[in-house]
Amino acid sequence: MIPPGSTIGIVGGGQLGRMLSLAAAQLGYKCHIFDPHERPCAADVAAGFTRARYDDGDALRAFAEAVDVATYEFENLPVAPLTLLGPKLRPGVKSLAVAQDRAEEKSFIEASGARVAPWCAVQSLDDVDAAVAALGCPIVLKTRRYGYDGKGQAWIREPGEAAEAWEAIGEQPAVAEAGIDFAAEFSIILARGMDGQCVRFEAPRNEHRDGILRRSSVPAGAEVEALAGEAERMAFSIAAALDHVGVLTVEFFAAADGPIVNEIAPRVHNSGHWTIEGAATSQFEQHIRAICGLPLGSTALRGSRVVMDNLIGDDVLGWPELIAEPGLAVHLYGKGDARPGRKMGHVTRVTTAGPSRE
Ligand code: ADP
Ligand code: MG
Repeated sequence: MIPPGSTIGIVGGGQLGRMLSLAAAQLGYKCHIFDPHERPCAADVAAGFTRARYDDGDALRAFAEAVDVATYEFENLPVAPLTLLGPKLRPGVKSLAVAQDRAEEKSFIEASGARVAPWCAVQSLDDVDAAVAALGCPIVLKTRRYGYDGKGQAWIREPGEAAEAWEAIGEQPAVAEAGIDFAAEFSIILARGMDGQCVRFEAPRNEHRDGILRRSSVPAGAEVEALAGEAERMAFSIAAALDHVGVLTVEFFAAADGPIVNEIAPRVHNSGHWTIEGAATSQFEQHIRAICGLPLGSTALRGSRVVMDNLIGDDVLGWPELIAEPGLAVHLYGKGDARPGRKMGHVTRVTTAGPSRE
């Protein structure tokens, strides 16, 4: 057990690291952020900060010395240098390696007994044409690495668009994946302890625009709730196969014939931000508890409906009105520049159905 008072290292200093640090502070831990940027928003709320490249071995060795346990808050990190953190790193490098390559990820998910959209790996335009022939249209091409918020993706709606899509993703190794006709998207956000115990939060319904999450809400509605049990089994088996410690997020499509895994994130997730106000324990506290070997917290829902909306780009300029709205929880990430598509903050509203009046 890593007791309160200890130092938790966090590789990556974005808003997820910031909210992890705040949750850790509440339990008496200190956080130390490792990030190559000049002033990452997590460093504003952490006790320590190392500015270094993610592949800087000397800096990582010093970081490993300075912390009692370490974790990561985003997955596009080079794996080999992180092995310098040894067993202090939770979750381990396996979860990272699997999640950061879409082809590895899909094979791993299938091997652990869960279902993904029909797919194949592609390395050339000929492969893409073969994928179109094998899978039919529509298809989405996704680069194997470095994709996020819909970046590195291009749709092929008819066979004639294959060359254009291949060019659009930069002619890089990719996966070609059948377009799924889904009723809804949702996620299973689970935490797995050092002892293998798994708990999950209520599954939120996730709504995207332009490939970016806009809203997560619970309860997620009948189409999702009907699939939540089966999705939970899939998510727990993926977590066990990874020997994951900490929070793991599994994104799903609610298809007519059952849940289909879209992708996994070996970390806290935007679709779990609602848990800060909407659950007995937040996803951030849950991750800290799991990696420190503390008992996992209750995932019980607070209130009857919880809605989280992201503030993306210029949305954040509306903060004076939002902050004046009674009962709305406003989270601003303290990032300077409201670039289009950049996640600047989020707001959450918890509604509690009152006693009905006749
Ligand atoms: P990212 O890493 O950018 O989150 P995702 O693979 O989750 O990438 O894709 C982003 C969004 O694009 C998904 O949440 C979903 O709305 C849509 N999408 C991705 N793959 C498919 C698919 N096979 N069928 C239908 N929609 C998809
Ligand atoms: Mg996604």
